[in-house]
Amino acid sequence: MRYLSTRGGVAPVGFADAVMMGLGTDGGLLVPETIPRVAPETLRAWARLDFADLATEVLALYVGDALPRADLAALVQRAYASFAHPEVTPVVSAAGRHWLELFHGPTAAFKDVALQLLGNLFEYLLVRDGGCLNILGATSGDTGSAAIYGVRGKAGIQIFILHPKGRVSPVQERQMTTVLDANVHNIAVAGTFDDAQRLVKTLFNDLPFKTARQLGAVNSINWARILAQTVYYFYAWGRLSGGDPSTRASFAVPTGNFGDIFAGYLARRMGLPVGRLIIATNRNDILTRFVATGRYRAGAVYQTLSPAMDIQVASNFERYLYYLHDEDPGAVRALFASMEQKGEIAVDAGRLERVQADFTASAVSDADCLAAIRAVHAAAGYIICPHTAVAAQAAVAHPDAVILATAHPAKFNEAVIAAIGHPAPPPPCLEGLLEREYRCAELPADPAALRAFIEQTLAAGG
Ligand SMILES: *Cc1c(COP(=O)(O)O)cnc(C)c1O
Repeated sequence: MRYLSTRGGVAPVGFADAVMMGLGTDGGLLVPETIPRVAPETLRAWARLDFADLATEVLALYVGDALPRADLAALVQRAYASFAHPEVTPVVSAAGRHWLELFHGPTAAFKDVALQLLGNLFEYLLVRDGGCLNILGATSGDTGSAAIYGVRGKAGIQIFILHPKGRVSPVQERQMTTVLDANVHNIAVAGTFDDAQRLVKTLFNDLPFKTARQLGAVNSINWARILAQTVYYFYAWGRLSGGDPSTRASFAVPTGNFGDIFAGYLARRMGLPVGRLIIATNRNDILTRFVATGRYRAGAVYQTLSPAMDIQVASNFERYLYYLHDEDPGAVRALFASMEQKGEIAVDAGRLERVQADFTASAVSDADCLAAIRAVHAAAGYIICPHTAVAAQAAVAHPDAVILATAHPAKFNEAVIAAIGHPAPPPPCLEGLLEREYRCAELPADPAALRAFIEQTLAAGG
């Protein structure tokens, strides 16, 4: 399988290069040359597989000869052995609905499903092909810890994660800083999240430094992350349908960067019988407005109770625009030129009809999010996180849609307490967190200081 850029400016590359490249060198996102189709009899057989075996089957379609099958299977097994639930992503029933629990990984949020796989893939490719990777990123909370857990102790990889000092929750901070592996470097920056993000951008824009120090990112546009997320749509369908290809399943997805919902779209294009795909947004409703009007225009970013979805521009959305324009990179380039010039992307009436056939979308207020947490708890004693609650509320008119439960409620106890008056009990991975040993460097919001810190750390052997 070969990979192309949505903007047409990257010579076709294999799976390994696509994974290591992340963002296309032309600014586009990598997509497979063709989307493989899964036949109904294969779907039937896959419905009997456990999560790791299913993941191996799905990934094998995209990996081609980049990895021997046995190596791929071993790597996938290792990635999902870190999950606390034997089913990895179980489907549970409560309050008259199905919930696809994606939060049984080591940081109790759904990004673990992709980042546990990505960390193992990076290590495999670096050890096999030689080389090293120094990951640099800034986090306002959740992604940093999932990335750290994805690569802790991995050969050939160092990770530097910046967070704004005193501005992430104590639990989020300790989830990162209590990982004591020698290749993990947490940095508390004196400043805001934007200051930390600016430092990272400054270093990435310093091309000689970036190249010499093999700097890389683990952002949500990596194709391997999308693939890992596609697996649980197949898994949930298998559990609910028993493998009967005439049964369709709908999904409601708490959406920020459009990675998770795009994985559902990909699963449908592969042949999975998917009914409705419901994009659930909070007050940051750029995607909901797009599905209603065909116009994609960024507004202000609002802080909400579902912070992982407080996003203005959804980075994976470009992949959908590429398929909406029948895989024409010239059309995608024109759309993003329009975004630069007019601050807006608009699609014609014919395409809007297709968008509305592909997705349903709904924006949910904080008040309705809290009401959803309360209602589910009252009906079943089941506690959901505020992101999951946004999806539940967005899907009220679709009672048979599976709700993607993207975080453990105990990670967002402020909202849980506001809704039901008491916190959710912590899962084992969060128990006693604040009492554990931790390690963290502190730096001013100064690119020269960060550059020097990275140089010194790498010179000292990581
Ligand atoms: C990242 C995240 C989301 C949004 O997922 P996208 O792939 O960015 O759309 C939803 N819920 C939680 C808890 C998250 O961490």
